[in-house]
Amino acid sequence: MVLPDSDYEFFVPYHDTLKEIFIVSCVNLKRGEFAVNIIKAHGKKCARCWNWREDVGLSESYPETCSRCGDAIKNREIKR
Ligand SMILES: [Zn+2]
Repeated sequence: MVLPDSDYEFFVPYHDTLKEIFIVSCVNLKRGEFAVNIIKAHGKKCARCWNWREDVGLSESYPETCSRCGDAIKNREIKR
């Protein structure tokens, strides 16, 4: 998403939340004349969170999940 300077400054603190608001896998913010470019995400779909991420398949223990979900499952197993 390309935003004018004042809007860019407003949205930067919410950068990590924007993907959840827009229900997309990733949001990139840039400065400039307003524009929204939508492209297919890279990577594979995580079996747990359904986000398309490039880190799906890197975990030996949980090859179907992204690293964030793999860590969540691991932490849950440790607490049991
Ligand atoms: Zn995931």
